[in-house]
Amino acid sequence: MALTATDMATGLDTIRRVRDLRACVASWRGAGLKVGLVPTMGALHGGHFSLVRRSVASLDRTIVTLFVNPRQFGPNEDFARYPRDEAGDAAALARQGAQVLFAPSLEEMYPEGAVTTVAVPDIGDLLEGEFRPGFFTGVATVVAKLLIQAAPDVAFFGEKDFQQLCVIKRMATDLDLPVTIEGCPIVREDDGLALSSRNAYLSAEERKRAPALHRILQSVVTRVREGGAGCVAAAEALAARELLVAGFEKVDYVAVRDASSLAPIASVGAPARVLAAAWLGRTRLIDNLPLSGS
Ligand code: AMP
Repeated sequence: MALTATDMATGLDTIRRVRDLRACVASWRGAGLKVGLVPTMGALHGGHFSLVRRSVASLDRTIVTLFVNPRQFGPNEDFARYPRDEAGDAAALARQGAQVLFAPSLEEMYPEGAVTTVAVPDIGDLLEGEFRPGFFTGVATVVAKLLIQAAPDVAFFGEKDFQQLCVIKRMATDLDLPVTIEGCPIVREDDGLALSSRNAYLSAEERKRAPALHRILQSVVTRVREGGAGCVAAAEALAARELLVAGFEKVDYVAVRDASSLAPIASVGAPARVLAAAWLGRTRLIDNLPLSGS
């Protein structure tokens, strides 16, 4: 487990090999310590840090993973231009109190010949799954690998990617993975825009328009709370039109769904969520809000 110059400066241990990660976690376990894991694709911001702080506060040791996972990007998506700043991320993580940054190479995660995948049908086929075929299989595969590699007690995921959180909970349950999956609230800018590494793609003009997504989701929440399940379809359609008027070029979906199954809702009693994905120029933004009880 070699320390790099950056690590010496920050006190954070960067690990690149699975076998070194396992040795590190085994030594912690031998000392009776509890381990938290925060999977990320890097370009860290306040949303990621909220997960790290939660892990640091509730567990003895925190591992943050940094891996831009090619298997969750479609052929025409932004894998090549996805923002990358490992040195900046490492410095910030040391300040947040994490002990390890696990940043494996592509070859370490997917050695030649690696073909096994983890598919989560149904809940993984809806919404994001419809617009990004293969996305959740890529996510579930890499997260399953990270959970097996690090064997944490608790793994932290943001509600920002609400469907992803549902898919990962389903996968961990179905595979009997001995880990608690903990969802954490969305961190937003003062104007309501949810923090995202992809916000860096927005032009100044697009950035001004972006908070409309949150605002319009708030209107859906109000309308459905007032009008009941019967007005869901109208509220979804109106929100899609409002997004276009607010300067979004394309709306993939605005959907009010059950907060566990992500199925359409029949009443407003059970926990529900309004979720949306829409395009500002070349940037696809996603966001969601609780409707009731979730
Ligand atoms: P990513 O690096 O985009 O794959 O995100 C890594 C983790 O951070 C995921 O669990 C995300 O849901 C979470 N995350 C990203 N943005 C936010 C945010 N604004 N608030 C809370 N969690 C977030």
